[in-house]
Amino acid sequence: MRPSITLLGTGGPRPDAARGATALLIEAGEDVILIDAGRGVVRQVAALGVALDRIDPVLVTHHHYDHIGELHDVILSSWLMGRARPLRLFGPPETRRIVEALLQQVYDKDIEFRVHEAGNVPWQQVATTDIVAGLVCQGAGWRITAEIVDHGSRLDFPDAFRQRWVCLGYRFECPEGVIAFSGDTVDCPGLRRLADNADILVQCCYLARSEIASPQTQRLAGYTLACADTVGRIATEAKVGTLVLTHHRPKSAELLEQMRQDVARDFAGSLLLGHDGLRVSL
Ligand SMILES: [Zn+2]
Repeated sequence: MRPSITLLGTGGPRPDAARGATALLIEAGEDVILIDAGRGVVRQVAALGVALDRIDPVLVTHHHYDHIGELHDVILSSWLMGRARPLRLFGPPETRRIVEALLQQVYDKDIEFRVHEAGNVPWQQVATTDIVAGLVCQGAGWRITAEIVDHGSRLDFPDAFRQRWVCLGYRFECPEGVIAFSGDTVDCPGLRRLADNADILVQCCYLARSEIASPQTQRLAGYTLACADTVGRIATEAKVGTLVLTHHRPKSAELLEQMRQDVARDFAGSLLLGHDGLRVSL
């Protein structure tokens, strides 16, 4: 089977009955790689029929709660369902601090309870590595690299916060081709490097052009999340094969279609509107 990516959650932080929050699964040979762990991730993995204990590694793009809100569920449920080795987890600086807080301050009692409950496998740790740009990890015939992307870095944050706010996108490469995931970002050099000649680019696309009408949404489209006014051009200039749009603000079917048409104006390749459960193979 050719390597594939499955969108597990295609919404954002705003509750959406039709979408979970960001999570993607890459399946390559025997390997199952999870990127982000937003709302509903474990339920979606179960719906796919993928055994949770097969997930390894987990990669985190950044620390917004619509990307890591159910990281604890991935860690604990994979263990509950038989994970018998440490789970490798990679993410931007302070990912390790977050995972330690979950395991030592939030779910420490739960873990101890289950360890002493008859029939559970011994507790399996999480091996967390804080990363920046560069090679993240590799497996049988594949490798993943990270790039720093621009998700609000030009907003008026205090310097001390800005230094701590590192956001990543990921690029999966194998003999069959390249899958890139933008993470949350606007157009930036890191995104261009991720997307360069990618066979599949999974790209955040939050708003249709008609939604970028107020100062607030203009600011959002300019500094925080790429929208339908830019992503088609980015994909065309990067020579992307298939562009998959994700991370949508809740909107009507008509507005979603309008967003797709906005992007299609700037991009002539294969264009897919992401929905939860969409699988695309190389
Ligand atoms: Zn975000």
